[in-house]
Amino acid sequence: MIILRKTRFQEFADVKELSRLIAKLNIPDREIKILNVCGSHEHVVCKWGLRQLLPFNIKLIPGPGCPVCVTPQEDILNAMEISKGRDVLLATYGDMLRVPAGGTNLRSCGGNVVAITSCHQVLDLCRKFPEKKVVFFSIGFETTAAPAATLFSVDLPSNFFFVSSHRLTTAAMESVMESGPDAFVAPGHVSAVMGKRVWEGFSNRYRVPVVVAGFTPEDVLLAVLLILKQLREGRAEVENIYRGVVRTDGNRRAKELMNRVFIISDAKWRGLGVIPHSGLELKEEYSERNAKIVWGWKEFEDREETGCICGSIIRGKAYPSQCKLFGNKCRPHTPVGPCMVSAEGACNIWYRCGAW
Ligand code: SF4
Repeated sequence: MIILRKTRFQEFADVKELSRLIAKLNIPDREIKILNVCGSHEHVVCKWGLRQLLPFNIKLIPGPGCPVCVTPQEDILNAMEISKGRDVLLATYGDMLRVPAGGTNLRSCGGNVVAITSCHQVLDLCRKFPEKKVVFFSIGFETTAAPAATLFSVDLPSNFFFVSSHRLTTAAMESVMESGPDAFVAPGHVSAVMGKRVWEGFSNRYRVPVVVAGFTPEDVLLAVLLILKQLREGRAEVENIYRGVVRTDGNRRAKELMNRVFIISDAKWRGLGVIPHSGLELKEEYSERNAKIVWGWKEFEDREETGCICGSIIRGKAYPSQCKLFGNKCRPHTPVGPCMVSAEGACNIWYRCGAW
């Protein structure tokens, strides 16, 4: 108990010092928009009230870093159709079951759907239900694409099928440049897979500072401090303050596995539309496992007629509290849009942390 108190006190002391330095380095005559791409960073920002610690002109903006939020309705509606086959069992991560699409969701659509917590559980399902075609609806960024790719390095059961709805975070960062961010706090987990170097081309191209940060309040405030320093000095570089986890070239083995299984393709994002070179599709040699080919894939329009403004939130153009439905019609147990479903969604985080 004493150790806990001491630790918390030290955290507060560091946070206080960092806030003081940020105020000192601030450029008060301009608005500074810093986009924190990752849902886990947004959680730290809200839980610790970091926005309230920053000078008024520095805006920390939640970005497109929630994988459930950016999965397009088209993919969910196709997954629903596949799941309704009598001999099919569709497996996906738990949060996906509650994401609204076409007035329903995967849990309520009448299909055979099962929630998993790890992609390797799909192989157990294949063994347990040999009479079923087990379809893995695999979603997420580089962090889930890498483990999903490992599935293809074993002898796959004949009843295993795969839908790739993976998206690349680097492409998402390019697409939110229209909202005019001055700098980025890059996602730590994705950087652990892809490496610090993955952001360098982006930072050079758009002349924006990027800081790879971990997930403590000190990490986030230190990232803000380094961004201010870069802006003051007219630099636009990639800095890494998550050194224990993120290496310059990332996890080489994970990247090799992804390259062996996936090809980069143009892909639809919920709220962002089609982004060139932003998705991962199964390579042709795995066509007989590709559920999009085996069952066929239909085109659906992404329609948001509910008043949900998730698209603007994902693009960094609005805060959750600017949505009229936030906290009344839309809550974590009654989500109207995808950003309220997952613990990484900005609306869900703001609601749970009382950050409005
Ligand atoms: S509060 Fe709900 S309806 Fe509004 S943007 Fe967020 S998820 Fe969409």
